Amino acid sequence: MAGKNTRRRTNRSSSKRNASKRKTTRNRRKKRNNRTQLYAKIGLLILLILTVVLLVRSCVVKSGKYWEDNSADVDASKPEIDVQLLDVNEYSRPGIKSGRIKGIVIHYTANPGASAQNNRDYFEGLKDSHITKASSHFVVGLDGEIIQCIPTWEIAYASNDRNSDTVSIECCHPDETGQFNAATYRSMVQLTAWLCKKFDLTEKDVIRHYDVTGKICPKYFVEDEDAWNQFRSDVKQALEKE
Ligand SMILES: [Zn+2]
Repeated sequence: MAGKNTRRRTNRSSSKRNASKRKTTRNRRKKRNNRTQLYAKIGLLILLILTVVLLVRSCVVKSGKYWEDNSADVDASKPEIDVQLLDVNEYSRPGIKSGRIKGIVIHYTANPGASAQNNRDYFEGLKDSHITKASSHFVVGLDGEIIQCIPTWEIAYASNDRNSDTVSIECCHPDETGQFNAATYRSMVQLTAWLCKKFDLTEKDVIRHYDVTGKICPKYFVEDEDAWNQFRSDVKQALEKE
């Protein structure tokens, strides 16, 4: 009898142990499931936050707000620029913020033999002379020098209806034909390509003042369509090289 009782007790205690073991396993599994669910929730939350950030970013880029690419490889191809900003004044640097840049506009100075410095100083002088309202973001000179007059995030008085969404480049020329010399041309291509890269544009977004208003500017590129197409294709090539 005693032996029977002992066996029963042993059986009972072992089944109790089994039950508690099962319970522990169940609890462990439950805990593991809970943890997996928690990780999944955190993952989803991170995804959601990323999506929102990306959406907001793309909205900003697509909207009319000024935007530029500041990554290092843009700066790598940046030409040497002599920054001589004009004083803010209503005749040449109104200090108005630009919108999203959608094009680069090429001009010629219509002032044979004048240097980039001469042209920059002419724009600066307008604040006192009040002769007219005119300016340009950049002026490319006869030796290929580049002077910047206005920050690209502010408008220049250069391209009429397109002042607020373009960057302008005035180009010097040695004579009345308006043809650019090799040094000027080289800098024009490099500066234009760099600006295209900076504002996520292509050579197709490079236009002449003529394309905005019909004005014969830049004279040489209006009179010689092949030369204009060549310029655009040289900009394209510079962009591909980079
Ligand atoms: Zn022009």
